[in-house]
Amino acid sequence: MIVKTLLAAGLAAVLAAPALAATPPVDVYRVAPVIENGKVAALAVTITLPADADGETRLSLPDAWGGGEKLWRFIKDPKVGGGTLSTLDEKTWVIKSKPRAPLTVSYRVVGAYDGTPPFDSVTYAQPIVGPDGFYVVGHTIFARPERRDGDSARFVWAPGGSGLNFASDLERLEKTPGKLNDIGRSVMIASKDLRVLTRDVAGAPVRLAVRDAFGFSDDAFVDMTASVIRAVRGFWGDGGEPFLITLMAYDAPKGWRSRRGSGLGDAFAVISTREPTLDYYPVFLTHEFFHTWNPDQTGGLLDGPQEPLGYWFSEGFTDYYARRLALRSGLISLEAFVADWNQALDAYGVSPVRSAPNAEIAKRFWADKIVHMLPYQRGAQFAVLMEARLKGQGGLDPVMLAMRAAAKTQDPARRGGSAAALFPSVVQARTGVDVTPQIQRYITDGEPVLLPADAFGGCLTVETRTRPSFNAGFDLDQTRKTRIVSGVVPDGPAYAAGLRDGMKYLGREHGADGDGSVEAAYAVQDDGPSRVIRYMPAGKGTVTVQRIVMPKDLTPEARAACVKAVAG
Ligand SMILES: [Zn+2]
Repeated sequence: MIVKTLLAAGLAAVLAAPALAATPPVDVYRVAPVIENGKVAALAVTITLPADADGETRLSLPDAWGGGEKLWRFIKDPKVGGGTLSTLDEKTWVIKSKPRAPLTVSYRVVGAYDGTPPFDSVTYAQPIVGPDGFYVVGHTIFARPERRDGDSARFVWAPGGSGLNFASDLERLEKTPGKLNDIGRSVMIASKDLRVLTRDVAGAPVRLAVRDAFGFSDDAFVDMTASVIRAVRGFWGDGGEPFLITLMAYDAPKGWRSRRGSGLGDAFAVISTREPTLDYYPVFLTHEFFHTWNPDQTGGLLDGPQEPLGYWFSEGFTDYYARRLALRSGLISLEAFVADWNQALDAYGVSPVRSAPNAEIAKRFWADKIVHMLPYQRGAQFAVLMEARLKGQGGLDPVMLAMRAAAKTQDPARRGGSAAALFPSVVQARTGVDVTPQIQRYITDGEPVLLPADAFGGCLTVETRTRPSFNAGFDLDQTRKTRIVSGVVPDGPAYAAGLRDGMKYLGREHGADGDGSVEAAYAVQDDGPSRVIRYMPAGKGTVTVQRIVMPKDLTPEARAACVKAVAG
């Protein structure tokens, strides 16, 4: 009986497949700006699609993405032509109609922020709409029909008389339909003063679409981006594909730097403080571009709340490769490589959550900024351990390539549903080495990673030091944000040195966040002239931190040999 049913179902599928393949529904997504009083007030989205065969079509609204939650809050005024609309819950629309009836679904998307996102928010990827343009990720604005992943999709940008210049990786779907999934995995940026520059990389266009002014030229930025793309494609052995990078500035108080990126397959969306020079970007952009492969082509991530369990691999290994490939391709110097690593090693050393088990990361990743950083820090250091462990078997590089090959051919259920789960089995198959005990110890259980002195090889040495923990004695974050000293602890070191709530904060003259062994000096002003308050910001306990040291005065030959040994 069971056999018969299965056979019948199989037959039906075979019969149905060619018919379906001949006429896949094409859903059309149209985006237009809503202009009020000369300003962009909202986006008007219109979707035309055929109804489901049973006359009940369900649309899922954007919910959680990139740290944003309940994204359906920004979707307003739904209207349906060709059917009647009801809501199943706040994120699901149900449309009743004649079977296969042509439907037109329209709604407006309003901005999630008043202007640009706050520079210190983790939810930077919600829709930025108005007043002078917009900057949105497809996942955060598009409703999509449920159980219709086989649908094709087209995109239409309808600027009307808005005068907005527009760029999106969806522009290719204006001519040729793509997959429904491409519609979400996309970015759209527009403003009247948007600049678009193009470079050729391996025969395919790399475009930069940029708003706002930075301290460097658009040309310098797009050239650097092209170099990053060449370096990462070289690693994976892939040829050219069109690619788009979008860049927009957001404002932050003086002394704050911040940059956020979303990798979207054939695009990456960046928002950043207005930097004076390019140095802030090569490792970051290499990280973002590496995401085109990791984790999407190396085994993916689990869905839903379990997703962050795989971030040690998807983010940590991506960080590891960002520094390594940026050094390998000459995008950064050996000094910059060491400085970037030392910043990460220091932040990890002083992190109050460094021993948190992986399950804790899944619970608190989006809620706690310090937990947020842990899979990056821990995962990158774990990659260093793995590179050292597998050195005799060719290192980590061939494992990454083998993961892509395995992810392509293996059934997702069999490989554990994520790149993080696939990694140990690929290592085992390729090298015969069982790394599951180390994953258990350093990732699952969260034992702090301590790198051996020769972990990076070449001319670099890892030093381990114990120093007093850091206690600023006042609320450094809040003070920097408001430029007014606050949260001074009465029995702390800052108070003893003369710092008081309400003083005007002018900036740090000396010291390092997180380092209790270096004198801190903060410039402040109250009634009189500005002055500098100095003290040792030492807390009660101690922390163990690692840092890389490199020899001074390397000859050009010794430096080249060191880069080769460290970067591969
Ligand atoms: Zn990332």
